[in-house]
Formats: sequence, structure tokens, C-alpha cells
Amino acid sequence: MAAENTVLVCKKCGAKYSAREDRLHCGRCHAPLLVSERKSMAVNVSDIDFAREVLASPGPVLLVAWAPWCAYCRMLNPIIERIAADYKDRLKVARLHVEDNPAVCSRYAVEGVPTILIFKDGRLINNMVGLLSKEEIERQLKAALRFNSGDGS
Ligand SMILES: [Zn+2]
Repeated sequence: MAAENTVLVCKKCGAKYSAREDRLHCGRCHAPLLVSERKSMAVNVSDIDFAREVLASPGPVLLVAWAPWCAYCRMLNPIIERIAADYKDRLKVARLHVEDNPAVCSRYAVEGVPTILIFKDGRLINNMVGLLSKEEIERQLKAALRFNSGDGS
């Protein structure tokens, strides 16, 4: 069920649709829905599929622990989407709803939201707490994963 709960929202009337429906127009007011802009590149993971989606993933995974009431999480969202797009060939980006998934939060001592966890080969290798800039997240990503930043360093 992961990634199916991304929601398309009609900017005109507020009607909501599952991204899975892939609608082009709002069924209520017929305004165009900007599907490509609304689709999240991050997969949603849970206590149940965490081991498969994150720990057993062949490459590195950036996991954002978030909560719906968290304003900083909403501010972090577009940054995470940009990182998911920029690193789409070498990084999997996932989101975990903290209240629905206490087992993962407890196992990795997630105490606040947003928290960004970076996993590689089934192990947690970095942990960032709070709202950070894209530059700061990328800096830590590159340090943790030794991504080549393209400057020959
Ligand atoms: Zn509408």
C-alpha cells in the first residue's frame, strides 16, 4: 500500500483524489489537476514494510519521520521532494508517519519531528533532527554516503 496515499488536491474547489487515480481534471469542478507536480517521489513506509523497504533496500535510503500536525514537516516536504528528484538514481526517499508506526520510532529513538534518518545496507548511518536547509541535508548526505559532489574532492 506504500506510496498510494499521496493526495491530489484541486486548487479550485479543494476536492481530493488519490494520486493512483491519475486524474487530469477535477471530477467536481473540472479544473485541471497538475498531476506531475503533485506526485510525490517519496514512498510511504510503515512498521510493517520498514524492513523490506528500508533495511533490505539495495542502495541508501533517506527516511523522513513526520507527523501531520508538524509545521516544520510541511516546510521540509518540498526540500525532500527536490532531494528525491536530484538524487533519484542513487537514493531512495521514504516517509514514515511517526504516530502510526511506533515500532520503528522506538527502535531508532526518534523523539521529535521532523527527523531524517539515513540508512545504508540495513544500518542507520546518520540522523538529523529538525527543519534543515536543502544545502545542509545534502552536505550530511554526501558526508555519510561519500557521494561525489562533482568537484573532484
Ligand atoms: Zn475541483
